[in-house]
Amino acid sequence: MGGWGSGKGSSYPKKKTTESQHRIDIRWLKKHGYLQPGSVGSLSWSFRGEQTGSIGYRMEADHMILSYQHRFRGGDWESVEQKIILDWTVCNYGGTRPWFLCPNCGKRVAVLYGAGKLFLCRHCYGLTYSSQQEGVVDRILRRQRKIRTRLGAADDLVSPILFKPKGMHQKTFDRLLTEEKFAGYLSAELIVKMLGINVRCH
Ligand SMILES: [Zn+2]
Repeated sequence: MGGWGSGKGSSYPKKKTTESQHRIDIRWLKKHGYLQPGSVGSLSWSFRGEQTGSIGYRMEADHMILSYQHRFRGGDWESVEQKIILDWTVCNYGGTRPWFLCPNCGKRVAVLYGAGKLFLCRHCYGLTYSSQQEGVVDRILRRQRKIRTRLGAADDLVSPILFKPKGMHQKTFDRLLTEEKFAGYLSAELIVKMLGINVRCH
């Protein structure tokens, strides 16, 4: 993605689409110069190399306009234009920090989620990490640790498991290895889903 002034053009961006859950992090926008008034362009998300969504944006002095097409579960596309007010607080160490004011609840937030038609804060979409979700991840991680302990591997969940412990059947070793790999994969997927960290602006 180009940033403002990076050749995206000065005209209002084309309508963009978003179907799934995407997030906009104001710290990322600031870091990449997108908060500059007059900045116009698009924000897009991708997952595993595939673009999963893209929206147009226009930055004004104290707010941002998002523009995109949205549809609910394969229904008709609907044009959405959303205004999001920005707020700035002074940091202790000097400088200022930008915030979105959630268009629904007015809370100061750093991240807005496009979990439905509009970009709203995590609380409004009920995207708090439910104890149930956390419980599932915890269980998987516990299982993974247990397997690793049996295999004499490091507790860090990432070091490769290279050696079969003495006295363990090859079959058991293979099964545990597969289980460990699967647990690691599953917990990573779940955490990614919970935090929405798979989708990032780029
Ligand atoms: Zn909210």
